[in-house]
Amino acid sequence: MAYKRILLKRGKEDSLRRFHPWVFSGAIARLDDGIEEGDVVDVCTNDGKFIAVGHYQIGSIAVRVLDFAQRAIDKAFFAERLQKAFQLRKSLGLIRPDNNAFRLVHGEGDFLSGLVVDVYGSTAVVQAHSPGMHFSRDMIASALVDVTGGMLSNVYYKSETTLPYKAELDPQNDYIVGGYDTNIAVENGLRFRVDWLRGQKTGFFVDQRDNRSLLERYAQGRSVLNMFCYTGGFSFYAMRGSARLVHSVDSSAKAIQLTNENVELNFPGDGRHQAFEDDAFKFLNGIDGKYDLIVLDPPAFAKHKSALKNALVGYRKLNAKAFEKILPGGILFTFSCSQAVSKEQFRLAVFSAAAQSGRKVRILHQLTQPADHPVNIYHPEGEYLKGLVLYVE
Ligand code: SAH
Repeated sequence: MAYKRILLKRGKEDSLRRFHPWVFSGAIARLDDGIEEGDVVDVCTNDGKFIAVGHYQIGSIAVRVLDFAQRAIDKAFFAERLQKAFQLRKSLGLIRPDNNAFRLVHGEGDFLSGLVVDVYGSTAVVQAHSPGMHFSRDMIASALVDVTGGMLSNVYYKSETTLPYKAELDPQNDYIVGGYDTNIAVENGLRFRVDWLRGQKTGFFVDQRDNRSLLERYAQGRSVLNMFCYTGGFSFYAMRGSARLVHSVDSSAKAIQLTNENVELNFPGDGRHQAFEDDAFKFLNGIDGKYDLIVLDPPAFAKHKSALKNALVGYRKLNAKAFEKILPGGILFTFSCSQAVSKEQFRLAVFSAAAQSGRKVRILHQLTQPADHPVNIYHPEGEYLKGLVLYVE
């Protein structure tokens, strides 16, 4: 199967030879006539030798590579990739009666650049980040149902905020397969309501699953502050871990409502939990002597490289507040989900914050994203979640 071709400038194929899945617009010498945004294209060297097949888009990333062998990008292609993704999640032990929330497709990490799929029980929430994936959405939805062996009855397409807006694709968030179903999902035996219709991202942050489990082990007898709680994930793990009290804080009223509902689902009438709608910095200013376990899981401070400097200042200030306020013998779980911030940069920001507080701080764990968010070794950019668990004397 041959598609219309994109010829690279001389010598610009090196990163593709190392299996990096992106072609930047600056590397392109010439496009065949009639190539449109979202088309499948063959990427070739300057003298016309095939190197990769992928989706073309207008922007800094011009081609998202789907394979380094010449082949058709059709339903069989998606079925094969999705089958492998499903098989991996099965072998990771993530599909069980007491766990039905997981990431099924993590973009480049599953060799499907531009596609994210999260599963909540019988519903898959699909996000396209490229026009090519947007145009393939029906094929993807039907392949998803086929390869998951009866697990899925609904596929919800949610790409209104993830597609490049200049592409003017006018995506409507809607069900491609099925319709609204129960929205209670289970993670490690804890139940929660997922609002994929109105919630952030696909409705829940499955990427903190392992880190929540770790927190459960440290929670016993502690006073826990879950800052930036969103749906309250860390809070209900802390409660199951026998925390003395758990306070959840988020600036969004909707998040506080979801957190309260989720705590009620798992621990009805449990007086240990309270949720507060407030700004993080404002709340942290007033917490002297209250908490000996604090979680800081803020939204991405740097959405792009250009915001990096301000983001690092933000991480430093936020963590400095926590170091200033946490009780002696306290444990701090601190995270950054900004892809533009490296592990080293984040650690340096936290280190500066610790030094500023003058307290004795030790690293107990260095955390990252879970195995259902695999990092393609040829695409290190796929590693985005960074966390530190710190012991503060
Ligand atoms: N820890 C959550 C995910 C956090 S997402 C989990 O495990 O699922 C980040 C959250 O930070 C969002 O819910 C957002 O509403 C909240 N937020 C953003 N800015 C904030 C601020 N200034 N103060 C408090 N919360 C904020």
